[in-house]
Formats: sequence, structure tokens, C-alpha cells
Amino acid sequence: STYVEVRDLTHRYWDVKSETIALKEISFSLKEGSFLVIVGSSGCGKSTLLSILAGLYPIHEGFITIDGNSLASCQKRIGYVLQKDALLAWRTIKQNVQLGLEIQGIATLKNKQYAFDLLDQVGLGHVGDHYPHQLSGGMRQRVALARTLAVKPDLLLLDEPFSALDIKNKIHLETLLKSIHKQQKKTTILVTHDLEEAIALGDDVLVLSGHPGTLRKIMKIPDSIK
Ligand code: ADP
Ligand code: ADP
Repeated sequence: STYVEVRDLTHRYWDVKSETIALKEISFSLKEGSFLVIVGSSGCGKSTLLSILAGLYPIHEGFITIDGNSLASCQKRIGYVLQKDALLAWRTIKQNVQLGLEIQGIATLKNKQYAFDLLDQVGLGHVGDHYPHQLSGGMRQRVALARTLAVKPDLLLLDEPFSALDIKNKIHLETLLKSIHKQQKKTTILVTHDLEEAIALGDDVLVLSGHPGTLRKIMKIPDSIK
């Protein structure tokens, strides 16, 4: 059944002098539990699309529904990791990883334990008492991912979540994300410009291109080439 539906979505940015049309008439739908990867060259609107799905920008043209309800009124838990990691500087890594649970009002002992397990799984259990400025960019990116996964979002949105990682950590986190997706079957949308990553992770790959970004195609990735 359709879980995410995007119809005729167009997005414009305005500043004092000019207007940029970032996305033009994008339509697609996703089944519950699927894993979509969005690829496309720089500037074609990938981050814009993800930010709109995260509810960060108003929708002026077109519409989005999640499980049949408009994005604005949907009760589903939407978790996202955008390109800026946005860890809170005055909180330790452990406190940062609990943040999503606190915001959602679900910071139970069991959920906190799951959050700390995730911190271990991204390889950062040993820096739980550090502060964000003591970590490298790649480490902060891993903390941000653990924090978002900790709330088990119904819809998971990831904008180049591995861009600052070295190859070893990247492969480790791709594997982790894949295994969590396999267990929990939460609908996931991931943006990348790494085609290898797209093929390894996605059930489907959506290609955006141009300025403004338009949808070129959606391809099913056969298991046989993974
Ligand atoms: P991508 O993620 O594919 O690189 P973006 O969604 O970041 O693309 O950007 C799409 C287009 O919108 C680009 O032309 C970009 O310059 C423009 N854009 C992005 N954010 C803003 C903004 N806050 N204000 C004005 N223009 C923006
Ligand atoms: P990046 O690729 O951005 O350097 P990684 O997440 O790949 O970050 O980190 C690689 C390893 O380097 C980490 O596991 C950590 O041990 C070490 N490291 C990097 N920067 C720091 C730092 N500022 N403080 C402590 N350890 C660091």
C-alpha cells in the first residue's frame, strides 16, 4: 500500500531580487517499508525535497501525504538527518543521543538503552561523555545518525549521511543501516550522489536532474546486482 505520496510538487526559493525554482512538478509514491535512494547532480533539489518531506518548508504547490494524511496533519514519526548535524554543543554525546527520545516524550530506560546501543554500534560508545567539539566531522555525523535511529521513526530521511566518513566507517554504517531496515521495515529515503551506495542500499533509485530539478526516472534495483 502507498505510504508516501508526492504529487506535482514544485518549490521556489525567493530572495530580495530573484526567484529560484528548485523543484518542478515532482510526483512519486512509495510503499510502506521501502527504501528509496534519491540521486542527482549537485543543485538539482535533492536536499530541498528531503527538507520538505521533513516538514521544514511549507508546501506552496502540489501536495504530500503520509499514510493517507497530509504531511502537516500526519501523526507519524518523521526522523531526519540533514547535512548539518546540529548536535547541541552544551550536551555530551550521550545526552545528544537521547535528545530525540526526550523531544518525543519516550525517554524510557529501555529506549535510552537502545540509543546507547546504537552509539556503540556506530563505533562511538567510548566518547559518550565527550562534547561535540571534541569529535571529528565524521564522528558527529555518526552521532546524528544514532540519535535519529533511536526514535525508530516511521519515515526516515537521510541527506548524505555518510559524506564525512572514511571508507571503513562508511561501509560499516551502510551495513548497520541495511540491517536495521531489514529488521524494522521503516520507510526510508536517502539522498546521495554515490551511485554505488544507491545500488547497495536502495530498493528503488529515483533520479533527479536539471535546474529546476525534475524527476527523470525511478528504477527498481534487482537484488541480483547488490
Ligand atoms: P541538491 O541537494 O541537489 O544539491 P538543493 O536542494 O540544495 O540541491 O538546491 C536546489 C536549488 O535551490 C539550487 O539551485 C540551490 O542553489 C537553490 N537553493 C537551495 N537552498 C536555497 C535557499 N535557502 N535559498 C535560495 N536558493 C536555494
Ligand atoms: P573523520 O573521517 O571526519 O576524520 P571518523 O569518524 O572517520 O572522522 O574518525 C576516525 C577516527 O579518528 C575516530 O574513530 C577517532 O578515533 C579519531 N578522531 C578523529 N578526530 C578526532 C577528534 N577530534 N577527537 C578524538 N578522536 C578523533
